[in-house]
Amino acid sequence: MIRVFPRLTNMTPRDDLSFIGYPPLIRPEAEVVHISVTFTWDLPLALDLAYAWSQYYPKVEIGGPAYRPGCLDFTPGVYVRRGVTFTSRGCNDNCPWCLVRQYEGKLWEIRNFAPGYIVNDNNLLHFTSLGCSSCASLNSGHFISQPSFTSKN
Ligand code: SF4
Repeated sequence: MIRVFPRLTNMTPRDDLSFIGYPPLIRPEAEVVHISVTFTWDLPLALDLAYAWSQYYPKVEIGGPAYRPGCLDFTPGVYVRRGVTFTSRGCNDNCPWCLVRQYEGKLWEIRNFAPGYIVNDNNLLHFTSLGCSSCASLNSGHFISQPSFTSKN
């Protein structure tokens, strides 16, 4: 399955079946193309991309957080780069510019989170203050390599 992203970020997968923007001259064979949209301001571009990719592939679908906020499913390495994981969702704060609380609710732990070495939680610092079991996992070898931390805050 080809995945297409409207823009490159440091979370974008970089494998042979992931692409940024419009289809290149040389394209791999595939039955399905997924246009993955994270940011709502990319929605018009995503429609253009869907049309462009549909010239070459029989099935093109659009999805992602910009279309389905509150979607909590996560498959490592498919729509975010390899190594990224999430150990929690939601937030106990409710900043006026942020949709996390609205779509994910109050902070809660993902019990069986996927292994990874980039923890991309919305509010990791808040989460660690709760003494959660995920944080204990950081010290127990659950992660596959040296952990590093990013924050959207
Ligand atoms: S995730 Fe960050 S910006 Fe959003 S409500 Fe929580 S503290 Fe505020």
